[in-house]
Amino acid sequence: MTSSKKRLQVDPQLCEAHALCVEIAPEVFVLNDDADVATCDEDPPEALLPDVKAAISGCPRQAISMVDRP
Ligand code: SF4
Repeated sequence: MTSSKKRLQVDPQLCEAHALCVEIAPEVFVLNDDADVATCDEDPPEALLPDVKAAISGCPRQAISMVDRP
């Protein structure tokens, strides 16, 4: 990721497991074992940033975001 001060996250309260993000960036997003929420690599490689951005804007629940590390 471009900035190590940021991390990628999926809000489990918002995610409805449409799996659109998994289709867009399968290297970064996966559904959990129960397939009811997506999880992600919180620090994906920079080369995947375009896919990550596409997943962020494509998520119908706006559940994916970049947040500041504590
Ligand atoms: S696209 Fe959004 S709502 Fe759907 S699985 Fe991914 S994070 Fe969850």
